[in-house]
This record gives sequence, C-alpha cells and structure tokens, in this order.
Amino acid sequence: MSIHATAFKTLELQRVARDFGGQSALANLSLSISSGEFIALLGPSGCGKSTALNCLAGLLPLTGGRILMDGRQIDRLPPEKRGFGMVFQNYALFPHLTVEKNIAFGLEMRKVPRAEIKTRVAEAIELVQLGPHARKLPGQMSGGQQQRVAIARAVVLRPPLVLMDEPLSNLDAKLRLEMRTEIRRLHQSLGLTTIYVTHDQEEALSLADRLVVLRQGEVQQVGTPQDLHEHPANWHVADFMGYRNLLDGVVEQSRGGSATVSVAGTGITGSTKDPVAPGDAVKVGIRPEDFDIADSLTAADSTTQLEATVEVVEYQGREFAVEARTDAGQALHIRTHRRAEPGQRIIVSARHERVLVFASSMDSGTP
Ligand code: ATP
Repeated sequence: MSIHATAFKTLELQRVARDFGGQSALANLSLSISSGEFIALLGPSGCGKSTALNCLAGLLPLTGGRILMDGRQIDRLPPEKRGFGMVFQNYALFPHLTVEKNIAFGLEMRKVPRAEIKTRVAEAIELVQLGPHARKLPGQMSGGQQQRVAIARAVVLRPPLVLMDEPLSNLDAKLRLEMRTEIRRLHQSLGLTTIYVTHDQEEALSLADRLVVLRQGEVQQVGTPQDLHEHPANWHVADFMGYRNLLDGVVEQSRGGSATVSVAGTGITGSTKDPVAPGDAVKVGIRPEDFDIADSLTAADSTTQLEATVEVVEYQGREFAVEARTDAGQALHIRTHRRAEPGQRIIVSARHERVLVFASSMDSGTP
C-alpha cells in the first residue's frame, strides 16, 4: 500500500503553554506520544483542546514550553514544514474542487509526480469508500461523505501525525458511530499517529489508546480509558467519566482509604485516595449503573442503602434510566434492568467499592 504514515519514534510535549493577552488558555501540557498511538484530548468547551491542537499544528506559536520530535525541536517550524494532517469539524474542503482534486491538492503543492498522485488519490478514495463520488463537488455530498474526503485529504500525504478537531460533531448520531469505527480502522490499517480533540466522553473512550483530560487549560489526568474510568484522579475527571451522581457531603470518618460521608443526612461509605478528614467537604461519586434497586432493606456491611421515591423513568433500550429522590431530598440517577414506576418506594444500594470519595477542592488529586 502506498499510503502509510511517515514514522517517528516519539513526540514530546514539554510544558507547552499558550496565553492570549495575559490569560492562560493552556498551561504546562506535558505528554510523550509514541508512534502509532491514538490520543484523545477531552474536556468541556473552552478548556484549551483546540489551542493544544493548533499549537501542535504550528497554527499558534507557543508562549511557553517545547515540542520535540525524536529529540528535534519542531515548535518553531511553520505548519507546512511539520507536515501534519489536519481534519476539522467543518471539513474545510475547497468547494470548487471535485473530491479527487481536493485530495490531490496537497500532493500537487508538494510537486509529487503526476502518475504517483493518480495512484495515491485513487487509493485514498478507495480507503474511505468514496469511489462513486470521485467527480462530485463537496456541495453535492452529505456531511459524512465530506468528512471522508477531509480524512482522505489528510492521510494521502502520509503525515507523521494526524490532528483531528471534533471531526464528527456536525454529523447525526448514527453517522457519528459509523465514522468513529471508520476512523479507528484507518488509524490502525495505515499505522497513523492520531491526536483527536473531543468533548464527547464516549467517543474518546471508544477511540483512544490514551486520554488527556483538560480543564481550564490544565491537564487533570492522562491515562488509558480503563484507568480513567476506574480511577479518576479527581471529581472533574469523574464527571467526564460518567459518574453522574456527584453528591456534596461532609466526611464523618475516614480510615485506611475508606471514608463515610454524610450526604443530606445519610451516611454513604466509599473509597478515597485523597487525604480527607472528618468535617471536610467532599464529593461522593457513583455511576448510575453502580446502583442496585432492592425491594427491602437488607443488612450488609459492604453496601450503603438509601430509601428513595422514584420520580422519572425513561426506557433506554435494554435498561431504564431512573431518577429518584431520597427522603432527605437528594436526587439520584440510576440505571437498572428492573422496571420501576413513578411514585414507587425503592431501596437504592451501592457497594462501598463502587463509591468514590473526592476532596471537593478544585485541584484535588491533580497529578
Ligand atoms: P471548544 O470545545 O469550545 O472549541 P476548546 O476546549 O477547544 O473549546 P479553546 O478554543 O482552546 O477551547 O479555548 C481555550 C481558551 O482560550 C478559552 O478561554 C478561549 O476563550 C481562549 N481563546 C482561544 N482562542 C483565543 C484567541 N484567538 N484569542 C483570545 N482567546 C482565545
């Protein structure tokens, strides 16, 4: 196959920073990326994801730190000298050029011989399954097809690194899932190294080998999807990893990595990595799927049980999303296979090892 990525061994971001008019948009981003990795930058709007990507691409000068590729400093090189592939949310195709010509454009700029351009463009079109559309203009195609063209245009250049900025956010839900699989397939089969920006936790978890969670320009945690899912460093990361119940409480007692917290008057026990002490304000994190519903209270040392009343039930395919409220007024989000009806009294239980207790201070647990 003539399309395959240019190899490098490591790409090193060392305390990369970017300010805008004295305001920090990105601070101290340090990350070592190996060839072939798929990295997702994840975080809420305004956390600095696009800034990080644009710094990598060379579209924004750094205001601090360095970027090294195999030990060579590249952060002063203009974008074209870095030669990274870029895929944007809005596709950024040339509207007056056909699919073929859009894909060929970068190769023509690089003065690649005509015959080679022809072969590589044909191959790229084949890769993204756009054969029947090769002569169409972008405006004659769907959003998903246009995004395939944008991806083909990026990978045809055999870039050492492909940077993707929310490439699927303009597509409908079904197409998003299809394109997600497509992107992962291309990443693997072409041996790409990909950095992918998204605010969609599910997308990041399903695509990436490693995730970087950002908040207000600062790295909160770097790790594999499993790491972050099972061991979020703080409640901000937990929030992104599906801990929909982040309940405010005050520590009653804490010993040996376990803490009992008073949440709206009820004691909930969980594990903690933070040095919390009685009287500290904390957040208790529980994923909706980690709650069980029972009919009656049972004595068990390893679980916390709460009495609650069902308020809203939503059928979601194989499961129900239930919103319930404890007698003390605490709202709970639950996912369950059991049917429940609004108004029904239920016992909600959570095993201690599935409950995480986080210090509520903003930067707790930041590595
Ligand atoms: P979104 O998902 O909304 O695109 P993001 O995580 O990509 O958000 P950035 O676009 O990187 O966030 O922005 C980070 C911060 O830097 C924000 O506070 C933003 O207002 C600021 N910022 C970004 N670009 C500029 C600019 N050109 N001038 C001034 N401030 C900027």
